[in-house]
Amino acid sequence: MTEHEHVRVAVIGSGFGGLGAAVRLRREGITDFVVLERAGSVGGTWRDNSYPGCACDVPSHLYSFSFAPNPEWPRTFSGQEHIRAYLEHVADVFRLRPHLRFDSEVKMMTWDAEKLHWAIETSSGRLTADIVVSATGPLSDPKVPDIPGIDTFPGKVFHSARWDHDYDLRGKRVAMVGTGASAIQIVPSIQPDVERLTLFQRTPPWVMPRVDRAISGAERWLHRQLPFTTQARRGLLWGIRELQVQAFTKRPDELGLVERLAKRNIARAVKDPALRAKLTPDYRIGCKRILLSNTYYPALTRPNVDVVASGLAEIDGSTLVAADGSRAEVDAIVFGTGFHVTDMPIAERVVGAEGRTLAETWSTGMKSLRGATAAGFPNWMTIIGPNTGLGNSSMILMIESQLNYMADFVRQLDVLGGRAALDARPAAVDAWNDRVQERMKRTVWNTGGCTSWYLDANGVNTTIWPGTTSEFRSATRRVDLGEYEVLRAPEPRDAGEPRRKGARRNKVEAGA
Ligand SMILES: Cc1cc2nc3c(=O)[nH]c(=O)nc-3n(C[C@H](O)[C@H](O)[C@H](O)COP(=O)(O)OP(=O)(O)OC[C@H]3O[C@@H](n4cnc5c(N)ncnc54)[C@H](O)[C@@H]3O)c2cc1C
Repeated sequence: MTEHEHVRVAVIGSGFGGLGAAVRLRREGITDFVVLERAGSVGGTWRDNSYPGCACDVPSHLYSFSFAPNPEWPRTFSGQEHIRAYLEHVADVFRLRPHLRFDSEVKMMTWDAEKLHWAIETSSGRLTADIVVSATGPLSDPKVPDIPGIDTFPGKVFHSARWDHDYDLRGKRVAMVGTGASAIQIVPSIQPDVERLTLFQRTPPWVMPRVDRAISGAERWLHRQLPFTTQARRGLLWGIRELQVQAFTKRPDELGLVERLAKRNIARAVKDPALRAKLTPDYRIGCKRILLSNTYYPALTRPNVDVVASGLAEIDGSTLVAADGSRAEVDAIVFGTGFHVTDMPIAERVVGAEGRTLAETWSTGMKSLRGATAAGFPNWMTIIGPNTGLGNSSMILMIESQLNYMADFVRQLDVLGGRAALDARPAAVDAWNDRVQERMKRTVWNTGGCTSWYLDANGVNTTIWPGTTSEFRSATRRVDLGEYEVLRAPEPRDAGEPRRKGARRNKVEAGA
């Protein structure tokens, strides 16, 4: 990266969001962009999570780009290595390689109100960009709880998203902390090899059977020969989930039936009533993400597994002490404790028009306009921003909606011409969030009686979209210029005219 490089768009991150943005920009005829990635390859989530058993919880034909269908998916729910390979393939086929800048961690980006661009500092140099598209991922920075005494632990410690493949767990006494989506995939994968597995469970998840199977050669042949069959399959998977979500968002009581099926799933696999009691949640199904596995419950019944129905409270040397006083001696600790979701680290690295960071602006809770832009942060947008997460469907659907919005944002700036920027109006941001939070009140995520990572420190759900993916698609099809203030760069100075401090804020209603 050269000292004075300037690009039209800087995309941050090369997961589904960043690569999708890159494809979309090229399709819009924009080639003056870079993708800044802190790691050494593409893939995001699917590069970083390589733990044993890592796989997607959404069928592959839906968990892939609509513009890059893959007739070759080997299983209905593909594993991490296949999804990662798919993203590498997308980077090649859409000729994204020349735009990728690896080992370029964005350290800070600051809005220059005079020049109307972002000054970006990365680990590999500086650049400026008219527009920043931040696709750093909601589940990208691992969160490890601050357990008292952790520094006294003499063994191996790692997070599920940073698996240490050089450390051999065979024959070891291992503690798995957490019972989220990653933990329930790890437990059955390592249980046969370890000497003893102690699972620290603060809250049991609801787990449903996983209808996973190999996709036959005949099916793949059909998808190759008749591409519309891939689309039809995707359409069916999407439609089912669009119908399901109504129960999550509007009629949580209807989930009682699903809850009964989930209880039967526990009863089938777990005969010991004491263990069954420990594993049965006391909140409405769907309040936390419903997990899918055929092997989790059977693994927990094996003689080398202990389920401690309590969170890890303290560590004393190699002894782990749970909140209920149970103790376990272990050689290694695996934290499956999630990510910095409602306190996304990138927010500390964005300094907006008022000289405040996005983290400061969001100190009382994340808020954006249509999940993308934030007031005071002109020409900056995020992919998978606040309230764009899903409880039951593919995040790729939401990412593609946001790419539509991004494409229109760039188009609108082109139409405005000259040096211009769009800054979300605070009133528009508030109106959008009020609508989202009003709808959220009825949802299972707010009424289901659980505490989940969907909620922020104030108990507000700033992560999930409380509607269907098609509703989000219509809400993000176009940028409504009325929701933005247009900023113009100051005109060139006449001799003797005092220097102006920043861009002129267009007082006329934008678009008028
Ligand atoms: C284990 C796991 C399983 C999942 N399963 C599902 C599922 O079944 N269905 C589903 O819909 N979703 C699932 N998700 C959610 C998943 O995160 C999204 O579906 C999607 O992959 C997010 O893509 P992204 O590009 O937004 O973020 P990511 O894939 O996280 O990519 C973000 C990229 O930004 C880079 N980055 C971050 N900060 C910086 C910086 N400062 N400078 C430069 N680069 C930076 C990171 O290195 C990373 O490459 C899962 C997530 C995890 C962790």
